[in-house]
Amino acid sequence: MQPDHADALNAILGDSSRVLTQPQVVEQLSRDFYWYSPVLRKQLDGKVADIVIQPLTTPEIQNILRYCHAHDLPVTIRGAGTGNYGQAVPLRGGIVLDLARMDQIEAFEPGGVAVCQPGARLGAIESEARKCGWELRCYPSTIVKATVGGFLGGGSGGVGSVAHGNLRDYDTVRAIEVVTMEAEPRVVLHEGQAVHEILHAWGTNGVISRIWLALTPAVEWAQCAVAFDTFAGAFDFSERVARSPQWIKRLVTAFEWPISSFFGPVRQYAPDGKALIFFMIAAAQLAAFESAARQAGGEVSYSGAYLGLRTRPLLSDYTWNHTTLWAMKADDAYTYLQCAFDPATAREQMRRLKERFGHEMLFHMEFWKNGEGVMIPGSLPVVYYTTEERLNEMIDYCREIGVFVANPHVNYVEGGGRYRPDNVQLIAKRRYDPKGLMNPGKMLTFEPEAPNR
Ligand code: FAD
Repeated sequence: MQPDHADALNAILGDSSRVLTQPQVVEQLSRDFYWYSPVLRKQLDGKVADIVIQPLTTPEIQNILRYCHAHDLPVTIRGAGTGNYGQAVPLRGGIVLDLARMDQIEAFEPGGVAVCQPGARLGAIESEARKCGWELRCYPSTIVKATVGGFLGGGSGGVGSVAHGNLRDYDTVRAIEVVTMEAEPRVVLHEGQAVHEILHAWGTNGVISRIWLALTPAVEWAQCAVAFDTFAGAFDFSERVARSPQWIKRLVTAFEWPISSFFGPVRQYAPDGKALIFFMIAAAQLAAFESAARQAGGEVSYSGAYLGLRTRPLLSDYTWNHTTLWAMKADDAYTYLQCAFDPATAREQMRRLKERFGHEMLFHMEFWKNGEGVMIPGSLPVVYYTTEERLNEMIDYCREIGVFVANPHVNYVEGGGRYRPDNVQLIAKRRYDPKGLMNPGKMLTFEPEAPNR
């Protein structure tokens, strides 16, 4: 990149401290957690931007995009860089647009809607919302670090999804304001169904600059760990709790042994050889819940109050994709898949997977409610990686037996399982980024407009 781009961007912002060119800093802000995947590691190691820019306002974003459009500079948006698929890794250099400093929570509207800038941390939104009687409907286990814009751009669901579905369900994202990559960048409001044009598009079709996020009334939560002799017993109980309207819950996560042996700080709550379940249950129901767990043959190995994100131990730190992280700490040959079992035949599907792959695939179940209200036995199985061929064999076999796989080992939107079959994200990209400068290379079905057309 020509050095005068940095000078020009300095002049646009009028603040050189927000135009970062130091190679180490630029390299660090060009990475995310793609290294979870041995396949992506090979593809993405060494990919870096030329400059990192940190806007503070929407007009600044417009000014930056106007300049990038005029000079054909690629732009990759970054929230906190906790994505797992290399979504925030720039493939073709250019600019990383780091939005972490646009972190204001502007308001909590009556009826429980948070209005935020994109860089607002989910943990801050949760903590502030609870002060006025609300909480997030769902959040990734990276809540403390992750930004709301990054969650909309690259995430899907997490803690809370067992009750409220994923981010794209139940009108949780009420509206999004997007800045377009055009000669004269516009700020466009997407409301209702139109939010799906931007959600989970990996920043390929515009910069989310403002978000209206629906919350849910806050609950006093408790945490509980229950061990079972067999994974089948743990699965039965966790499924029953997930499905039953009797229990007010935020998290239902079941682990096949030896996954819980990887959880260093809470290892004492994981009896040797047993399957373990982590729950977040309404505190008012805790005593009844423990007794139901014992009646089902479970051993309650831990229970305690949940006092917010600083609670220790914080069981959600071992769930969702944190589970994979603990496994990788124990042995870096571990990686993962993202699956959804068929609620009617999950046991048979698991039996067949076990028969074929044995300990190469360890079950880690996360229950979530889908948009139609069906409780899905979701899974981020921990996978022992040997070769890419073997990994693909696992993915193919899952699909052959009806297990849905959102492949986390590919680096383009269409491959990851959250791409909309009605192509609305692609259609929006054609409209908002006709030159194809936003996160180029990540939406494979997009073809840039011919220069002279
Ligand atoms: P980034 O990684 O910075 O960005 C994600 C994508 O969104 C990128 O493509 C980026 O270009 C784009 N983007 C960022 N900001 C904007 C914007 N303003 N406008 C448009 N596009 C934008 N994910 C889950 O869904 N659930 C989980 O439970 C979960 N658990 C995780 C656990 C671990 C240990 C790790 C490492 C990851 C986990 N993730 C999970 C993935 C990730 O943490 C979340 O998706 C998180 O919400 C991403 O936020 P971020 O701010 O880090 O986004």
